[in-house]
Amino acid sequence: MFKKILIANRGEIALRIIRTCKEIGIKTVAVYSEADKDSLHVYFADEAVCIGPANSKLSYLKIPSIMSAAQITGAEAIHPGYGFLAENAEFSEICEEHKIKFIGPSPEMIRKMGDKAFAKETMRKVGVPVVPGSESIVTTIAEAKSIALQITYPVILKATAGGGGKGMRVVWNEDELGNAFQMASTEAGAAFGNSSLYLEKFLESPRHVEIQLVGDQFGNVYSYGERDCTVQRRHQKLIEESPSPIITPELRQKMSEAAVLGAKSVNYEGAGTIEFLVDKHLNFYFIEMNTRIQVEHPVTETVNNIDLIKQQILVAGGEKIENLPKGINGHSIEFRINAEDAENGFRPSPGKISYLHFPGGFGVRIDSHVYNDYTISPHYDSLIAKMIIWGTDREHAIRRARRAFEEIRIEGIKTTIPFHKKVLQNKYFLSGDYDTNSIEKLFS
Ligand code: ADP
Repeated sequence: MFKKILIANRGEIALRIIRTCKEIGIKTVAVYSEADKDSLHVYFADEAVCIGPANSKLSYLKIPSIMSAAQITGAEAIHPGYGFLAENAEFSEICEEHKIKFIGPSPEMIRKMGDKAFAKETMRKVGVPVVPGSESIVTTIAEAKSIALQITYPVILKATAGGGGKGMRVVWNEDELGNAFQMASTEAGAAFGNSSLYLEKFLESPRHVEIQLVGDQFGNVYSYGERDCTVQRRHQKLIEESPSPIITPELRQKMSEAAVLGAKSVNYEGAGTIEFLVDKHLNFYFIEMNTRIQVEHPVTETVNNIDLIKQQILVAGGEKIENLPKGINGHSIEFRINAEDAENGFRPSPGKISYLHFPGGFGVRIDSHVYNDYTISPHYDSLIAKMIIWGTDREHAIRRARRAFEEIRIEGIKTTIPFHKKVLQNKYFLSGDYDTNSIEKLFS
């Protein structure tokens, strides 16, 4: 097993990885930008290397600086977390060339599954249902129009390199298509350096349900059940729960089998997620695969009593998966606390936290890198804390979440806490019978 791992990330996920490494006796190296010198991941790692200025292009995304930090400190593996270089095939390849283990999939796998149009094609070939749409990327407006005519409006244009809800446009009729195509393609080019788009049927009131998988180097792939990520704003997740209130044991098994089949067909290794949309008739359709650990992984950890980061590290080190899924216990919900003004269009709200108090007690987990007097930089993702609740069942978890939100105090900045409190009183959320639209309406 590795003796030392470098964590090529920041914020809560860097800290999350450090915690597991400490528990399994692996030394850690943090990398940080000048803006993050007072971050907890820097304090808690065994060693820390400054890799550049605040601008992530010059630090967290700068592969040569990260590789030098790994070489100087003698790290044998790199954990990329999520975002930044986590799904960057070139980075995975450079790690391979330098004989440093990338804790994630091979460059080929990232290329195959990271390209969303290609991933859909791969899934369709092995019989996993996919949302109807173009077979691969669509290069002209005329081509998009002809496919849209076949699958009927509304349709959605999506960036093949997409992520975080960027480069996506819903198109309700043919008149809108030309403009939407230009805008989505420009946005995708700016955000991902790849302006290619594909097109699919827009499902009007879907639920987002994803399956967590872990594969090892011996061809084993296991499913740890689903996460329901239907509570979103502008296609970005805000609350996730496991199990999904709408998934029956039979459907869980069917979706898990489809996900495992898809992952096995590409010899998937490591932690990964197969994302599906589920319509009101409980038909499920593959939309994409994430070849990395996800923000919402703790709900799966909580109901499965498993450390997914530890699993990632063990399989990357060549071990067989021994922590086999034993079934879901109770109910878990994660609330993303972002430095955004939920009552004012979710505007970013960076700045200094003047007072902070996190809740505690049975069934309340906080994953966060912030503390009293910490200054949230405007340069990075607005996620400042994740509150993960466990309850014996959904109702219990909701009651526990409400009491935790009574205890939490974050002053000096605005956050998404008012949104969460509102959701916890919303009749659709409480009934479990909600879709992406019913929640979005709450704050539009
Ligand atoms: P990203 O990688 O940018 O997060 P995804 O493909 O995972 O993009 O989609 C994010 C969200 O966008 C989904 O959870 C869903 O709410 C919405 N979405 C994506 N594709 C469709 C579709 N075909 N129909 C309806 N909603 C969609």
